Amino acid sequence: MNTPSPHIKELSVTLKGCIDLSIEKKTQEAIHNLSIDEKYQLYWLISKTKLVDHDLFEVENTLWNSIKGIFNSEYLQTVQLLDQQDRVLTFVEIGIFLDYLDIEDFRSVVRYLYTHSLEPEITITKINGKIVNLLIFFASSDENPIEKTISMIRFIGIPPAGFDELNQKLLATFPKQKKALEAINELPISVCQKYPEYIPEIVEKLEYDSNIPILKQWIDHNALNNITKQKIAQFTNKWNPPDYESNEEFFKNLLVQRKENQIVSIPLSHEAFVKPFIKKLKASTVRTSELPITIPTELLPGYLEKLAYPILSKEKIIEIFFLGGAQIGTMGILISTSQSNILIDYGLSVANYQIPFWHEALPNIDAIFLTHAHLDHSGAVPFLFSQGYSGYVFGSSMTKQLSSILLSDSQKLMQQNFSTPVNSSDYRFKILSQESNVYQMLERFIPIKSGEEYQITPDITIKPFNAHHIQGSYSYQVESGNKKVLFTGDVNFDPCALFRGKMPKIPKDSDLSIVDSTYYGQPAFDPSARDNLLFQTISESKRVIIPAFSVGRAQEILLKLENEGITKNHKVTLLGMASKVARLSGLVTKAHFSDRLIQPFDNEIIIAGGGMLNGGHARKLVEETKADPETSIILCGYLAKNTLAYRLLHGLEPSYKQQIVYTRFSAHSSSNTLKKFLSSVKGMKALVHLGELTKDPFTLAKENKRGQLGVGPMQIPHLGSKIII
Ligand SMILES: [Zn+2]
Repeated sequence: MNTPSPHIKELSVTLKGCIDLSIEKKTQEAIHNLSIDEKYQLYWLISKTKLVDHDLFEVENTLWNSIKGIFNSEYLQTVQLLDQQDRVLTFVEIGIFLDYLDIEDFRSVVRYLYTHSLEPEITITKINGKIVNLLIFFASSDENPIEKTISMIRFIGIPPAGFDELNQKLLATFPKQKKALEAINELPISVCQKYPEYIPEIVEKLEYDSNIPILKQWIDHNALNNITKQKIAQFTNKWNPPDYESNEEFFKNLLVQRKENQIVSIPLSHEAFVKPFIKKLKASTVRTSELPITIPTELLPGYLEKLAYPILSKEKIIEIFFLGGAQIGTMGILISTSQSNILIDYGLSVANYQIPFWHEALPNIDAIFLTHAHLDHSGAVPFLFSQGYSGYVFGSSMTKQLSSILLSDSQKLMQQNFSTPVNSSDYRFKILSQESNVYQMLERFIPIKSGEEYQITPDITIKPFNAHHIQGSYSYQVESGNKKVLFTGDVNFDPCALFRGKMPKIPKDSDLSIVDSTYYGQPAFDPSARDNLLFQTISESKRVIIPAFSVGRAQEILLKLENEGITKNHKVTLLGMASKVARLSGLVTKAHFSDRLIQPFDNEIIIAGGGMLNGGHARKLVEETKADPETSIILCGYLAKNTLAYRLLHGLEPSYKQQIVYTRFSAHSSSNTLKKFLSSVKGMKALVHLGELTKDPFTLAKENKRGQLGVGPMQIPHLGSKIII
């Protein structure tokens, strides 16, 4: 493939810089004059790095909208007829044929599509069709085709439904490689890690006895247990397995029993497996009643399984899976021991409705713990209920109340979005926007108290601590065996008014501390300079609009104004959801609470939801006062690129005449207090939620290794990875 000319490269830089904005006429003309081959080159230069990013569909949408406006080529006209998934795949296919994407890119795109597709029949058939083509393309262009192709399939984890088709096509294309291709028959096993719904199919198809070595090699502890349980289910009525010392011994006996009983068919339902044991447990054990809360035993299938088969493995390790939030995006951390699985947070991105990675253990986990009510930590929990989770959700009672407000609000928004379908991920909207799932989640929400210890499964004890991020936010210390894991959740070590200037008391003695490090890479910060700027702007302005997040920041700013006497001397109003939350938090203030704006809006300070000015009351006020230079807009917190707030701050919207000021009010620790905490923590540290870094990750990793960071050794886990302690 030809390398792009400097002219094309230059154009791609220009286009990347203005992907959401209008494109200059000069640039448009230059693009129209390109040959079709040059247009492909340009397209891939723009999209390559973005397309394999986390927000694939969103990026594709943006790219597609801007690109279809400028290209107008024959190729894109055909592509326009396809739906979004097809378009992504076709782009990827073309990208590989043209050599602008490599195998690694292909893997990440395909894995992304599999992991995020919640509509298996439709998506997987489509993806498989493309994959078969691409694998044949790879296999025929490689020196060592079949082996490499097979290892790639294993890595991707193609669902079993696609294997027959794949195998047949590959055999037809490479008839001489018949022997090598036989290895493909073993591949479906690797799939069950990601797709629990295929386990029955896999178990049915495979000769279990001969495949144990393969199973052990390819899949993790949870998936192995799940398959094993499916197998055990065959003879629960005939055979009560005793406790075994090791996995080896257990499997050996399992095989003997299986042969003796000549078992061929497998009962697939979970219930059939658990039911015989409920009777036995009620007669012989009181352990469930030792739980800190009363839970009817029949509602705890995961717990019962563990009691019925107390040990499938005697290894005392804790595995921590980063299903989300490793660096950016929604949070989701699965903590897994030999006997239990608990999930901390399972969030939803409000921007693109993305949810964390799936894990096959999720529907049967023992418990869910929420650090706080923000949707990027709690928003996808209703989805877990739709997928068969029937256990409990734990968190502070404030988190329960705030979740109820935030979730019903997001439901409404999603239902609006769903009535105007935009792309093929609509299936997810449907599930996430179902009120019944939210209702179920809130019904199963059990408030727990900070500082108290809860034994939640036979081998997990958990202790919540106030995290001072927003009202009701917790950090959790999980203890199993003699090991401790801390997850701070979103945390704030800076003194703030909402928590009366006190520091959160979070334990420092864990073997692993997973720490919210949003501002780790940012410069140190001086809160008194910030306060001065806030008060000074207020005293000099006729009208002030403070757009802030409705939960947390809005109340924090209100308390600042209260403590400074500003609510006494000025009319301060808290609008919309922000006022609802302030009432719920029991704030004592002279400010006014209002559901909607009462005109005229003059000599007034208004705090309203919608910190980035994407919509809501704050946006309305900003539009209304657009021409008035005597109005000040005080922005605070994180402003995502290209939101109106971001554009105002960076002077990109000259038609807005108001005075724009930025005061940093964040609910996350500033870098100085965060580093202080990190250096006082014992054991291993894992930094999650890393925001923008002043240094690139490689430099950071090097300095970390050399101990130059001054906070001791730390890990920066990536999305989908796990840490074992
Ligand atoms: Zn948060």
